[in-house]
Amino acid sequence: MKTTLKTDITVKDICEGFVYNELEGKGLFGLSGQLTIQPEYQRNYIYADGKKDVAVIESILKGYLLGLIYFVKVSDNQFEVLDGQQRITSFGRFVTNKFAVKDENGMEQYFSGIAADKQSGILETKLTIYECEGTESEIKQWFRTINIAGIPLNNQELLNAIFSGPFVTLGKEEFSNSQNSNIQKWSAYVSGSANRQEFLECALDWVSKGNISDYMSRHRFDTNITELKIYFNSVIEWVSGVFKDVESEMRGLEWGRLYEAYHKEAYDPAKVSVEVQNLIGDSYVKNRKGIFEFILGGSVDTKLLDVRVFDDATKKSVYATQTAKAETKGESNCPLCALGHDANKNKIWKLAEMDADHVSAWSKGGATEAKNCQMLCKTHNRAKGNR
Ligand SMILES: [Zn+2]
Repeated sequence: MKTTLKTDITVKDICEGFVYNELEGKGLFGLSGQLTIQPEYQRNYIYADGKKDVAVIESILKGYLLGLIYFVKVSDNQFEVLDGQQRITSFGRFVTNKFAVKDENGMEQYFSGIAADKQSGILETKLTIYECEGTESEIKQWFRTINIAGIPLNNQELLNAIFSGPFVTLGKEEFSNSQNSNIQKWSAYVSGSANRQEFLECALDWVSKGNISDYMSRHRFDTNITELKIYFNSVIEWVSGVFKDVESEMRGLEWGRLYEAYHKEAYDPAKVSVEVQNLIGDSYVKNRKGIFEFILGGSVDTKLLDVRVFDDATKKSVYATQTAKAETKGESNCPLCALGHDANKNKIWKLAEMDADHVSAWSKGGATEAKNCQMLCKTHNRAKGNR
């Protein structure tokens, strides 16, 4: 990749013809139309939080370096920003009065309201820019390996860059657009933010059964995202149909996997709802996120709930009582071994060789307290199963 250093381009030059699209959250063009600020493979503008954008302006006002900016030369006099789009969009938005910064008296000031010398100080700031020329794959390889100043690209943002094309564009239009009215509904089941491509990532993860990059590569030049949309919506419709109440624990679960495993089963949403409420209110359930899969699987696999176990003090005292009784009777301190006919019939196990068991199973209402605890040898405890 060939690079040329430019140190004479100013903020004013870049802001010549600056366009910001509020709807897409993107800085679009600058440098009198010669510069595309956020090409298709770039993420949306994420500095508009009143902190990172303000920090960019404060750096300029204090005369600090803004860091290196990289342009890709697309053709003669046409460039795309490879790295620096967040910073450029920040000063472009400031200069076009899209947000204010506090002055020395703590007053919010828009660009048009600050002193003329400060205005020209900002506009005349020179930037350090590398213009790069290389093949698409060279540029993307580079993009993948550098650690972008500020917030590093996440996985999906990188994949969008690597597999840029019509499919990514359409995918972002549907899943990365925070103006999409479905985002709120989806947020009940999907965690993360649309801006950071996490909804798109989730949709791709579900449809591809976890093989996102393979899926993106195969569909890179598709001009529709029909399969992706239909699959994602099927999963969402299914979850919201089975589980009528939206619980915060549902967010970010592997709904794609659960859909594959259980969508052909029949559930009674009213019964499911009662069961969800009971389990959420059950103080023995340590893993509430496991409640939904537990119910989908027929409410048998209590491992998913991580039911609270007996503490060491309880185990020790139950062990002591049980062993003392067994020794007087001359039988094993594992009640199940004592019932048997083999060599373990009279065996006294050590504490470390035994595990605590719910006499009356937790799933049938048995409590996790001393009077419902018995010690079993490890073999018998395992055989009895984790109920
Ligand atoms: Zn035993």
